[in-house]
Amino acid sequence: MAFLSDVIYLDNNATTRVAPEVVEAMMPAFGPQYGNASSMHTFGGQMGRCLEEAREKCAALVNADPSEIIFTSCATESDNAAWYSATETQPEKRHVITTKVEHSANIAYGHYLEDKGYEVTWLGVDANGRMDLDELDRAIRPDTALVSVMFANNETGTVFPIEKIAQIVKSHGVQLHVDAVQAAGKEVIDLKKLPIDYLAIAGHKIHAPKGIGLLYLRKGTRFRPLIKGGHQERGRRAGTENVPYIIGMGKACELAAADLQGERARLAALRDRLQDGLLAAIPDCKINGDQEHRLPNTLNISFEAVEGEALLLQLDQYHICASSGSACTSGSLEPSHVLRAMGVPFTFAHGSVRFSLSRYNTQEEIDRVVSVMPGIVSNLRAISPFARRA
Ligand code: PLP
Repeated sequence: MAFLSDVIYLDNNATTRVAPEVVEAMMPAFGPQYGNASSMHTFGGQMGRCLEEAREKCAALVNADPSEIIFTSCATESDNAAWYSATETQPEKRHVITTKVEHSANIAYGHYLEDKGYEVTWLGVDANGRMDLDELDRAIRPDTALVSVMFANNETGTVFPIEKIAQIVKSHGVQLHVDAVQAAGKEVIDLKKLPIDYLAIAGHKIHAPKGIGLLYLRKGTRFRPLIKGGHQERGRRAGTENVPYIIGMGKACELAAADLQGERARLAALRDRLQDGLLAAIPDCKINGDQEHRLPNTLNISFEAVEGEALLLQLDQYHICASSGSACTSGSLEPSHVLRAMGVPFTFAHGSVRFSLSRYNTQEEIDRVVSVMPGIVSNLRAISPFARRA
């Protein structure tokens, strides 16, 4: 099968290209350095040291202690492990709070708990995707085991005020889990300052491979492992450590930390160029999400009376990769649960496209997208039953 090589990849909130530096760092562990990190002998012990070096690099990205980092297989596992631990260690507490705009990794666990008789409070958001912090404060009860919120939304890029959320949750003495999958490497995350108990990150969103994630677990937080078995990860996540991928994750975190502010500025400038170009060239479109508090790489834009999936197919003809929402829910013709929670009108919600950038995108690519989009939108509007006609 011939793979496309000339793509303009603007779907980095779905997954990212593995950085060449990451591939290079991982290679020895696929070759001669294949020892088991938990072995007693020197050959394996050397891999154990590589693993601990990677842990230090991951901890540095979020200003945590290396002992607070647990490697997992993906962020879904990290999210599930946090919910599992919080509820298992506090069996008398049968209430959990989360939001309607979370990733399915958390939403599904909420529904699972509801099936088991738990009460889950699903907090809404306003038209810009913002949470009502007073509503959060009022929702917390003596039997609340966990509050789980995302740092930044994968579909709109809206960044929640995590510091204020943490203050509120901690003033009630309740555990807090933060899904930081989209924020990692794009927002400053300082866990010495943020009183968060659990935090999830995925490798494949920060230029490490798919199949590696981490769970931050604050020192002193009681923990029950989701995956039970051997004593790996200090008994907090069983299973032979995936050393090559852990090394890759460490390298990816190191690269992300090296120029976080510079890369934020570069991404925001490119994203704004895309946004301004589309708004200037195409009538009746609307930005979704909080434009003041937004990930620098994300643009979610709705084109009235256009079918989002059709628009993506047209973009695909130009080898431009974007998304109509979360990749995990694409294929369904229902408008995204995030846009629905924000009350985005039907004719706009259906025509939403998410462009998400990475360090590998260039101005030329952005200009190419701006040049092809007006034609695509007007062609689709010409055949749309919902289009306004002159
Ligand atoms: N949380 C958020 C906000 C995400 O965007 C994703 C992936 O899209 C996940 C969790 C799940 O990550 P993974 O696919 O690595 O399990």
